Amino acid sequence: MTVAAHKETLGFQTEVKQLLKLMIHSLYSNKEIFLRELISNASDALDKLRFEAVSDDALYEGDSALTIRVSYDKAARTLTIADNGIGMNRAEVMDNIGTIAKSGTRQFFESLTGDQARDAQLIGQFGVGFYSAFIVADKVTLTTRRAGTGPEHGVYWESAGEGEYTIETVSKAGRGTEVVLYLREGGDEFLDDFRLRSIIRKYSDHIAVPIQMRKEPRGEEDAATEGELETVNSASALWARPRNEISAAEYHEFYKHVGHDFAEPLAYVHSRVEGTTEYTSLLYVPAHAPFDLWDRERRHGLKLYVRRVFIMESAEQLMPNYLRFIRGVVDSNDLPLNVSREILQHNKTIDTIRAGSVKKALGLLEDMAKNEPEKYAGFWKEFGKALKEGPGEDFANRERIARLLRFASTHNDSDSQNVALDDYIARMKQGQTPIYYITADSYAAARNSPHLEVFRQKGVEVLLLTDRVDEWLTASLSEYQGKPLQSVTRGALDLGALADQEEQQQQQQVADEYADLVQRLHKVLDDKVSAVRTTHRLTTSPACLVADEQAMSANLERILRSVGQEVPASKPILELNPDHPLVQRLRHEQDQARFAEWGEILFDQALLSEGGQLSDPAGFVQRINKLLLEASR
Ligand code: ADP
Repeated sequence: MTVAAHKETLGFQTEVKQLLKLMIHSLYSNKEIFLRELISNASDALDKLRFEAVSDDALYEGDSALTIRVSYDKAARTLTIADNGIGMNRAEVMDNIGTIAKSGTRQFFESLTGDQARDAQLIGQFGVGFYSAFIVADKVTLTTRRAGTGPEHGVYWESAGEGEYTIETVSKAGRGTEVVLYLREGGDEFLDDFRLRSIIRKYSDHIAVPIQMRKEPRGEEDAATEGELETVNSASALWARPRNEISAAEYHEFYKHVGHDFAEPLAYVHSRVEGTTEYTSLLYVPAHAPFDLWDRERRHGLKLYVRRVFIMESAEQLMPNYLRFIRGVVDSNDLPLNVSREILQHNKTIDTIRAGSVKKALGLLEDMAKNEPEKYAGFWKEFGKALKEGPGEDFANRERIARLLRFASTHNDSDSQNVALDDYIARMKQGQTPIYYITADSYAAARNSPHLEVFRQKGVEVLLLTDRVDEWLTASLSEYQGKPLQSVTRGALDLGALADQEEQQQQQQVADEYADLVQRLHKVLDDKVSAVRTTHRLTTSPACLVADEQAMSANLERILRSVGQEVPASKPILELNPDHPLVQRLRHEQDQARFAEWGEILFDQALLSEGGQLSDPAGFVQRINKLLLEASR
């Protein structure tokens, strides 16, 4: 029998030529990915064989142990990736390896600009596949035989990646495909056992079939014999195994790997979602915040796998910013293997996975808060500030996130943030509608603020908010469980049903009595305050400042100024405590110069007591000293 060698030299499709050129130039900085691509192809070929063999067992040709083998030859400077998968016939090789069958190929190439950095990104999006071999090789050969055909049906393909390839029929004993890379100059790093194994573990550890390499010969004598085959990867994806077969220790070990952490995780949740979008997720809450949690440039998100092939690290599209501390894996059954970050940004499947993963993460935190409050307190210390960004970022889950928040409060009289909004609501007074809070730049400033006096007197709890993010939080969370969140430093004090009718009448009477004083004082302080009025929110302090209902809080103004933002000057309202002896005396002060001086002091004191800065500290000191001298005379 004569076997027609049938050798042909053919030209690549135009697009293939362009792709090859581009890839070699643009992907050189990340060249190790070629191995992932070739292993991924091999794994697909094994999957296809497995699938076809379901209906035709003969395709196994008596060998159903599916493997991928990686080997190298230092002398020849070659690297070989072989699989015993489905293989290809001649027509398939020509179709698959000589042309790009993907739809949109033309448009893709038209979108290339010649700007290498930009094109490199696009090429990742396109998916480089088999051709990535040419990043590191200046000649690639592929020998393949379709499963179920005779040994004489092998196909040999060879190309230097420069526009042409040759193809001929050869004989090949085993089914499947063997790709040999003749490494370019400088590609010797891949002729290294350790390097290859670590690339395989990094990118392909969770390929479900064994990826094997020969054990390195130890000494001179050994060198003559071939080493035993060892499996380099774990050959089973942990998250793909049933939950009840995975021990806590295994979950923890896996976390250390994906989280790049030495410590054990605080909690994890492993789930498989079936239906129109199928994916598995394994999410972890770390025990400690990473040092760069607040670095805006920091990458976050989950590791994305597609059908157990590692796709990318830190797929930030899978987790919103406020959950950037969550670590873990999502493995989708629906995304294409060549999915890129750019594609992920506008992908319905990803949107569904993200929404589901956020719900899982919030559920995990809810369970911890409910069942392990001490653990949750630890979590809150590390990540509470990040979670406080949630209501502003994730409108759909606002209420759920709000339930997870913890605050310091006048109820506990401690600076640890351990009061939940639900705790607060359970303690609300009869007739109380809002959830009261104060923002300040320190716990001491919040706790000692004159604004809290009436609340203390009436036994009404006030949340003490002292993280910078609290201003952003309260701006985005205006109510919880139908109860408005109300700042005690903003707007007129309305204690509603908390004040009885008698009190209200009395307050009106006082306001009338003090109308003259209020007017005089406003004249004196006209450049500093927008209004003066009497208040019943103070019991021990003579005066305090409040912001207009619509205005920014004074604390937020200070924060914005401290980061160099221009904030339009807004004048606060000065509120007077009519029961305070200083205020009562001021009312009867006839000397206009002295009246003005006292007025200034009242204003400055009010400003100081809420942590503000005086515009003229020296003037304040002089006025005080003058008063002290007068008093001691
Ligand atoms: P992709 O894998 O994205 O389709 P590639 O350029 O990597 O693109 O491969 C093109 C095609 O060549 C594959 O779809 C597959 O049909 C075929 N192929 C590549 N490698 C192998 C292999 N090891 N075994 C069988 N077929 C392969």
